[in-house]
Amino acid sequence: MHALVMNDGWVPTPPSPASMDHLPAQRDPLTGLLNKHGFIREGNRLLPLMAAAGEHPHVIFIELNNYEGIVSRMSYEEALELLQAMRWRLQLAFGEDALLARFDSERFAVLLPEALDEFTALQRVLETPVVIGGNAYHLSITCGVATYPEAADNMHMLVIAARIARRDAINAGRPVSTFSGEQRRRLSRSRAIEDGLWESRAGEGLSLVYQPKVEIHSGRVIGVETLMRWYHPELGHVSPTEFVPVAERTRTIVPLGEWMIRESLHQQSQWRRQGLDLSVAINISPAQLAPEASGTPVLDILADECDRLDLDRSKIELEITEGLLTDESAMAQVRRLANAGFGIAIDDFGRDHSALSLLVDSPARTLKIDKGFVDNILRNPRQAAIIRFITELAHDLGMRTVVEGVEHIRQLVAVASAGCDYGQGYFYYRPMCADRIHGLRTPH
Ligand code: C2E
Ligand code: CA
Ligand code: CA
Repeated sequence: MHALVMNDGWVPTPPSPASMDHLPAQRDPLTGLLNKHGFIREGNRLLPLMAAAGEHPHVIFIELNNYEGIVSRMSYEEALELLQAMRWRLQLAFGEDALLARFDSERFAVLLPEALDEFTALQRVLETPVVIGGNAYHLSITCGVATYPEAADNMHMLVIAARIARRDAINAGRPVSTFSGEQRRRLSRSRAIEDGLWESRAGEGLSLVYQPKVEIHSGRVIGVETLMRWYHPELGHVSPTEFVPVAERTRTIVPLGEWMIRESLHQQSQWRRQGLDLSVAINISPAQLAPEASGTPVLDILADECDRLDLDRSKIELEITEGLLTDESAMAQVRRLANAGFGIAIDDFGRDHSALSLLVDSPARTLKIDKGFVDNILRNPRQAAIIRFITELAHDLGMRTVVEGVEHIRQLVAVASAGCDYGQGYFYYRPMCADRIHGLRTPH
């Protein structure tokens, strides 16, 4: 039998369970608390009543941080005892007026008519070591709080908001965090982006711009990197740094990426017909190379367009991030692309903690040195030493280097003396629409 032992040795008796007049389908069979479905339904019924009574309803989402570790040391029966102990603690901590629920494994939720006076008292009750089978288990909880109606006006969204707040608490290393107005704005913006991306699958609102890549010693434009732009009907221009991660998470990047590859190659073919022989670099997200990615494989899209438009495969470079180098299945695809004749560039090299040894077996022919090195090159001469080292290593491995984010002439001088081959950045050119590429200094 377990006992709830407080720091001062006090052993409280569990309060009587809340009324059980709900359908079994709305209850968690292990604790007798409401399940998620029951919690949301009952909460939606209570919210307007609480508001009408002048109360300030709060949802608290509670998760045991070390649940897996604890139950892995327990028998099944002991794990059930732990859940019962949690139920009693919640009833003790929140009292009769609270609506309590267990969602699944270590996740609980509470609807309170008023804000908590003091979180530490609650934490003390919930985190008191629990003794089961003669062993004391130390619990640790992290909570997220969402307030009605500021965070959301219905239970479903309040629960989501409280979960988001909990994740923020985890990230900040705090035991509790409250969903803020700023988070609400961010959430509704991210939802608008997500919805908009589904609608723009066919390419609506999307366009491409091209940023020239320049050979440093000659100053000639040798190629362009294609970058996506997106105009959302309500949000206006949305930066790819904001929408690409959403597209990756929702895997809409797969159809968007296909559209973008086909568009870029059509543009390249058009330039060639107009006498401009430029290489084109295309960013490829890991999600596009995942074995389970739906849609046409990247290699098939590229091969199809190259055959149709009669393009030179060596003039097409695919930019992948260095994180992919450790992903075996994605790298198998990258090798297939390289073997099929397409160029591979490692983007943002040095942004994460790159293992130089991974370069040895890499099929890449280009290293794009992360903008972060160039940003600090004038303030910290050691950055120049790192760029020189990376460039020498790349040359020894038969690769070329591109330095990204060159904004000032003094940065260019520094990277040129470090031996870099190509530069890209606002000092030379900003990303521009396809028509403007004609006026540039390109190879004869
Ligand atoms: P990235 O691939 O590293 O692209 C370079 C980014 O740096 C671009 O931002 C570019 O406009 C910006 N940039 C270039 N030169 C300078 C400079 O001198 N100074 C500064 N401050 N910035 C410079 P952008 O276009 O906003 O793209 C951001 C990121 O979004 C890209 O980073 C890439 O990771 C992603 N992205 C953009 N288009 C696509 C796409 O079509 N597919 C995929 N998968 N990702 C894309
Ligand atoms: Ca890139
Ligand atoms: Ca980059």
